[in-house]
Amino acid sequence: ASSDTTFNRVMIKISGEALMGDQGYGLHPPTIEKVAKEIKTVHELGVEICMVIGGGNVFRGLSGAAQGMERTTADYMGMLATVMNALAMQSALETQGVFTRVISAIRMDEVAEPYIRRRAVRHLEKKRVCIFAAGTGNPYFTTDTAATLRANEMACEAIFMGKNGVDGIYDKDPQQFDDAVRYDEVSYDEVLAKRLKVMDASAIALARDNNLPLIVFNMDEPGGFRGILAGRGTYTKVS
Ligand code: UDP
Repeated sequence: ASSDTTFNRVMIKISGEALMGDQGYGLHPPTIEKVAKEIKTVHELGVEICMVIGGGNVFRGLSGAAQGMERTTADYMGMLATVMNALAMQSALETQGVFTRVISAIRMDEVAEPYIRRRAVRHLEKKRVCIFAAGTGNPYFTTDTAATLRANEMACEAIFMGKNGVDGIYDKDPQQFDDAVRYDEVSYDEVLAKRLKVMDASAIALARDNNLPLIVFNMDEPGGFRGILAGRGTYTKVS
């Protein structure tokens, strides 16, 4: 990568909600375009980029299960929702001139490549953004776990968790409490012990066990992602 950053290969995880704008559901093309432009500025640094996008803007397994659907079926629906988001992001990035591959954990060869680790690594080496879709391919997991798993497999140096409207991890909800304090750094164990809201526990444990740092930052801050890669801005580092 360029001299502007020490990072060579990163994972960025954004939630499905990050793509819905203020609609409350689904996909909002101008918002997706904004996210794609943020990714592009990092791509221009020469950083190799892996992406995982959630599916919560379309379907969540737990909500389906709460309405009486079988949990595993509902989870597969959630995974399919992430494929739609991945395709939307692919389209937005390629409109910006950034080449991408959508790589699915569930085979659907007409739509996306199957996940083959060495092939994905090769795409990264060729500076294609790899968008990992369909989560881990397994029910009872989340896209946070998928991001952590793929980041480990791809030997990413860190996972960047792009949040909406919040610039890190706080000791309590900053939207509810004026005196909430942001952590600059916090350990995986403290995140788990205090149940700090950042990722689910399995994802945190998987990151901890592989010493994969987690950087939580505000995705709504223009130029924020690139800034953090260059060592500027506010964020919380979990390590
Ligand atoms: N999901 C799953 N296995 C995975 C990843 C996701 O079953 O490996 C399902 C799960 O039902 C989840 C849904 O896909 O609710 C959407 O993913 P997630 O909730 O992580 O999306 P986000 O909250 O990040 O938008």
